[in-house]
Amino acid sequence: AVPYLGNSKNTIEVLQKYDFVFQKKFGQNFLIDSHVLDKIVSAAGITKDDFVLEIGPGIGTMTQYLAASARKVFAVEIDKALIPILEDTLKEFDNVQVINQDILKVDIKKLAEEHNDGKPIKVVANLPYYITTPIIMGLFESQVPIDSITVMVQKEVADRMKVGPGTKDYGALSLAVQYYAEPYIVANVPPNCFMPRPKVGSAVIRLTRHEKPPVEVADEKLMFRLIRASFNQRRKTLANGLNNSPELSYSKEEIQQTIEKCGFKAGIRGEALTLEDFAKLANAFSEK
Ligand code: SAM
Repeated sequence: AVPYLGNSKNTIEVLQKYDFVFQKKFGQNFLIDSHVLDKIVSAAGITKDDFVLEIGPGIGTMTQYLAASARKVFAVEIDKALIPILEDTLKEFDNVQVINQDILKVDIKKLAEEHNDGKPIKVVANLPYYITTPIIMGLFESQVPIDSITVMVQKEVADRMKVGPGTKDYGALSLAVQYYAEPYIVANVPPNCFMPRPKVGSAVIRLTRHEKPPVEVADEKLMFRLIRASFNQRRKTLANGLNNSPELSYSKEEIQQTIEKCGFKAGIRGEALTLEDFAKLANAFSEK
C-alpha cells in the first residue's frame, strides 16, 4: 500500500529512499501535518466532480489527499528529481497526472478546456513563496476559468490579501485580490508543520472567484495603473502619486480636478481609498 505522507516518519522514509536533496531555489518545504492537509482539502470544497490543478506537488503529500476527493488531479512540478518519487507515492491513484514543468509556462486555459470542458477549475497549492503573487495574479488576469484558489502562503501575504484601508498591510495586492475574489483565511500554519521548517509563519487562504467583480469599472487596466501609482509612494498624497507615475500621463491640473470631482479631500493619500473609490477614480479619468 502507498504510505500516506502527512507525517514526518513516512516523509523521511521517502526522502531517504530516493536520496532527495532539497532545492532552496524551489522553495521546498513539505507538509507533514495531516490536520493541515485535511483542512486545506475541506476548505477547497473538492468533490468527485472537480478537476483540480495542483501547483508544486513536492513528494505528493497533498496530491494523495486531493486524489482521494477529486475526479481528477493535474499536478505541475518543476523539480525533475521529484518526478520518480511522485510516480511511486501516487502509483495507487488512477486519477492523477503529473507533469515536469514550470507552472508559469503552462497554458492553464488550455488545460481547463482539455480536461474540464472549459468549466471552472479549482487550484490548490502549497506555493513557493517567491512566486505566490505572479501565480495568483496570472490566474486571475488571464482568461482561465477559475472557481477558487486555495493556497498556502506566507502569513504576511495572506494578511495583505485580506485587509482593507487603514492598515499597514493594505496595498495593491489587497485590491487586486479583492477585485477578483473573496478571500477567506482558512488556517494559520506554524513552521513545525513542514519539513524542513520555514523561517516564517504560513497561512492557508481561499480565494473564491467573484462571478462578477464587486465594482464596475470601464477600464480595468487603468484602475490597476492608478492603484499601483497610489501605492508606489506610500507617504505621498494621491495627487503626487498619480503625478509621478511612469504609467500615467495626466497633467497636474487634470489630476486635481478629477480627485475633486470624485469628492475626495485634496490631500488624501492613496492608502485611504477603497476598491469602490479606485473604481470611481478610474471611471472619472476614463470619462475625460
Ligand atoms: N505540495 C507539497 C507539500 O505541500 O508538501 C510541496 C510544497 S513546496 C512548498 C513547493 C513545491 O513547488 C516544491 O515541490 C517545488 O519544487 C515546487 N515548485 C517551485 N517552483 C515551481 C514552479 N515554478 N512550477 C512548478 N512547481 C514549482
